[in-house]
Amino acid sequence: MSTIAENIAKLGERIREAAQASQRDFARIGLLAVSKTKPASAIREAHAAGLRDFGENYLQEALGKQAELTDLPLIWHFIGPIQSNKTKAIAEHFDWVHSVDRLKIAQRLAEQRPAGLPPLNICLQVNVSGEASKSGCAPEELPALAAAVAQLPNLRLRGLMAIPEPTDDINAQHQAFATVRDLRSRLALPDLDTLSMGMSHDLEAAIAEGATWVRIGTALFGARNYAQSEGGQPTS
Ligand SMILES: *Cc1c(COP(=O)(O)O)cnc(C)c1O
Repeated sequence: MSTIAENIAKLGERIREAAQASQRDFARIGLLAVSKTKPASAIREAHAAGLRDFGENYLQEALGKQAELTDLPLIWHFIGPIQSNKTKAIAEHFDWVHSVDRLKIAQRLAEQRPAGLPPLNICLQVNVSGEASKSGCAPEELPALAAAVAQLPNLRLRGLMAIPEPTDDINAQHQAFATVRDLRSRLALPDLDTLSMGMSHDLEAAIAEGATWVRIGTALFGARNYAQSEGGQPTS
């Protein structure tokens, strides 16, 4: 078994145990493989070991890998900060966008989603860590943003995404993820079935609080070497 296949098996166990501990259905929790800075060959290996959903943060890097992997039936998720001049390529080349945090970006994605493709799945990124994080809309702004995005054509608003400030304090992890869950439940919109939250170090707490996608990089592909990637340091 390759290291990646072994890691996927271990992650499956972690997710299964976390689901069991909180009496949740394991099948409702998706493993999103975060492949930023990793080569197409690593994605190929993860796909061979059973994964289908891949998350990328940097557009140019993602487009390069997509071009190398057209023979595989992969589902691509954009999870990084979005500049306006990148929306067209994102609308054309991805199935999900987890990091929408302002209306202008959602409007551009809606206008630029090609007619022949199904609606683009959207999560609104919410900032539950205050000043500790720059990305994500403020919780107070979320209801208006969600109501506006839900009206846009060619998009399907699925739920919320969050990247809480990293902490080893388990209670703080639970509190941040519970805040995201409560924000979603207070939105007066039907069909919000998604909570994209939890990464390598805090997926257990996220699952306990209702995560439906855990976004996993390090625990799946190993540590990242940013010197080799486009775009320098990530914001998360
Ligand atoms: C890099 C990244 C991840 C994966 O983080 P790990 O700690 O390596 O699992 C998840 N979500 C986002 C938005 C990221 O940028």
